[in-house]
Formats: sequence, C-alpha cells, structure tokens
Amino acid sequence: MSAAATLMVDLTAIVANWRDLAARGAPGAVAGVVKADAYGLGAAEVGPALRAAGCRHFFVALLGEGIALRAAIGPGPMIGVLGGFAPGADGDAALTPVLNSLGDVAAHAAAGRAAGVARRAILHVDTGMARLGLDAAELALVSADHGMLAGLDLHYVMTHLACADEPAHPMNAAQATRFAAACAGLPKMRRSFANSSGMFLGADFASDLARPGCALYGINPTPDHPNPMRPVMRLEVPVLQLRDILAGTPVGYGATWTASRPTRIATVAAGYADGYLRSLSGHAVAEFRGRSVPLVARVSMDLTTFDVTDLPEIAPGDRLTLIGGDGCSPDEVGARAGTIGYEVLTSLGARYAREYLRG
Ligand SMILES: *Cc1c(COP(=O)(O)O)cnc(C)c1O
Repeated sequence: MSAAATLMVDLTAIVANWRDLAARGAPGAVAGVVKADAYGLGAAEVGPALRAAGCRHFFVALLGEGIALRAAIGPGPMIGVLGGFAPGADGDAALTPVLNSLGDVAAHAAAGRAAGVARRAILHVDTGMARLGLDAAELALVSADHGMLAGLDLHYVMTHLACADEPAHPMNAAQATRFAAACAGLPKMRRSFANSSGMFLGADFASDLARPGCALYGINPTPDHPNPMRPVMRLEVPVLQLRDILAGTPVGYGATWTASRPTRIATVAAGYADGYLRSLSGHAVAEFRGRSVPLVARVSMDLTTFDVTDLPEIAPGDRLTLIGGDGCSPDEVGARAGTIGYEVLTSLGARYAREYLRG
C-alpha cells in the first residue's frame, strides 16, 4: 500500500509572511500568535522558525501551550498567555499572563507585592468582544486607583478587535476610540492592538505590538481583496484505489451521489477523522498537478471519493492535494464547508506524516 497522507508545512513561507507583517507593523513590534499548536501546523516547529527570524513576542491561549513553547524556543522572548494563569503556575517557563479581569489583576498584584518583585503581565481591556478583559466598570475602578496595579510590571495593555476582517464595520472605529480612552486613564505603557486583519486597517490600528496569527499561516487577512500572504501548507493524500463504475451506480454512505455517466472514482486515504470536514460532502475539489477534481458523495471517516474520469493519467498511489492546492486553499475549503480557514487548519488531523520545509 502507498505511503500515508502527508501534511507539508513550508516554514520558510511562514517566516516570509511574518517578515512582511513585521515590515507592515513597523516601527511597532510584531508578535507571532501560535496558539492551538500554531493553528494546527505545529508550534514546536513554527515557534523556533519565527524565533530564528527575530520574532521576540509570542502568544498562546493556554498555560500548557506556553510551557511547551518555552521548551521549544528557549529563554528570552515574551510568551503571552491569552487565557491567563494563576500566579506562579508557569513554574520556570517565565510566561507572561494576560490579566483578563480585576480578579486576575488583584491576584498577580498581591503575589508581586508579597514577593517584593513586580510581576510581569499584560493588561487586557475589553472594547467590544465581551469575552475576556476588564469591562467598563472594572476599567473605571483601576483608572481611579492606579494603586491597584502596584506589584505588577505591565508590559502592555491590549485589546482585541471583533470585526477587523470587515473594514467598513463601525465596530472598528468604535473600538479604536474606546481603546484610546482606556489607555488615557491608565498609567503610561505600551499598547498591543491589531490581529492579522487589524494590521490592514490603517494607522488608527497601529500599536507597539501587533498580534497576527492567521496571516502567518496563509489565511487571507483581507477577505475582500486578493490574498497578500503566501500559502504555507499542502495536504497530499494518496489514491488507495481507482474503480470504473457504470452510469447509475451510487457511491458512498447514504447513496447520496449516483454516477450520471461511466465514471472513474478515486478513493483517497483521508476523511473527516483527519479534519477533512464531513460538511464538504458533495462540494469540494482536490487538485492534481494543477487540475481540479470534484469530490463526490459523502466524506467518510477515513476515506473520500473523487470523480477523476477526466484525468485518466491518475494511478493508485498518486497524491491528490485536498487542502492547500489550486482551488482548495484553507479559505476556499472553509467556504465550501460552511466555515472559515481558521477552522480548517485547526481541525487538521494527527494521522498524517508531517514534513517541514526549512528552505
Ligand atoms: C487569536 C488571537 C489573535 C490572532 O488573530 P488572527 O485573526 O488569527 O490574526 C490576536 N489576538 C488575540 C487576543 C487572539 O485571541
């Protein structure tokens, strides 16, 4: 039987995307957001590649992700943990908690005062997401009494945009105004504002530290315009078997698709258990040497079927590109699955061989 499905991740392209974003964010610094295992592509590989390129600031979502990233990149760069953590829970990893509530502020400030060493942290204020971050009432309390921050070494104040991928959305300007007002009431400190899409919104969204994630991984941060970022991944899946069926033959679970002509079906070795979403059933394409082949019938757990009648040169063992090829970028696959490229990447399975291109 042929080799396993292969996920190819081009680290040089991720680094090149980061360099482009770093130039765009200048004179501010530009972080690398590597939460969720670098959006499914492998934080243990992406982190060190960005570090070697000069990235000095990283963000993860979870404490455990931060500890693993520190082991991968070594001492030095800031690793912000967006979900925060209890004082001291990071052990020797020297992580930087994002303080998301007055309770977080109080706990870390008290720990810093008790230790006599101010605790490094990032202060998160909510300006329109209503998920995490100090709300208006909490912000008012801190603004009225900066003594609440004693014991903290605040490296940044940050906020997060809700609608940055919709440049005309009024939330963007509203959040910029609220963020500026919040910062005016706090002790002077550096600011961290834009995510990937926010970096394309103009000068009002510039800050001391941008936090791009998706754009590093080739997702289009400007959905209304051609993608300015390089593609960084390809999922290539071998054809297990070819079979010629007669017109009228149904294919797959539920017999939802029936050949309307004599058809050659290629069955490939990946399915929804590999993150090739079942909602793609009947409406995706794969790429073979620059040409598209349509997915037919339902995606199964480990197998997916394509109509390759028009490409008779395809042989068993040949590889179709299911994600990351022409017509099947993560964004395009996401759209066909009724979701977004972010979810396509973060759903990528664990059963592939992974190959990292290092240039
Ligand atoms: C995930 C995340 C980012 C990165 O967002 P992208 O849209 O992927 O660039 C930045 N900031 C915060 C707070 C996040 O949660």
